[in-house]
Amino acid sequence: MDEISVKTSFQTQFIDITSKVNEVLHKTGIMDGVCTVFTPHTTAGITINENADPDVPRDIIKETAKIVPLDAGYAHVEGNSAAHIKSSLFGCSETVIIMNGSLMLGTWQSVFFCEFDGPRNRKVWVKIIGG
Ligand code: ZN
Repeated sequence: MDEISVKTSFQTQFIDITSKVNEVLHKTGIMDGVCTVFTPHTTAGITINENADPDVPRDIIKETAKIVPLDAGYAHVEGNSAAHIKSSLFGCSETVIIMNGSLMLGTWQSVFFCEFDGPRNRKVWVKIIGG
């Protein structure tokens, strides 16, 4: 397992970590298998979507804020329930197939770390299994 450090700058932010995941993959030398990208946080997530047009993650962030408002009379006293809810909606991991030493992402797909309660220093764990 490898760990990627992610430093976020905003309360809500999507950061493209595809190149960092690729670095981990190339270091292993594994040509075929699967790659799991997992974040061990309850107010963050991992998702795969388009980054060719940066308006796509911007729209996802904007529309998600309408579905899960920051303040909606939540019970959780820490005050970050919206971030916990978004973490569960997006999920904390993604799995990508590896073929010929490459992540099998679609042309427009990138792997994003999703910050919902930043800014913070975050961790992402990457596990690559050949076979
Ligand atoms: Zn909390």
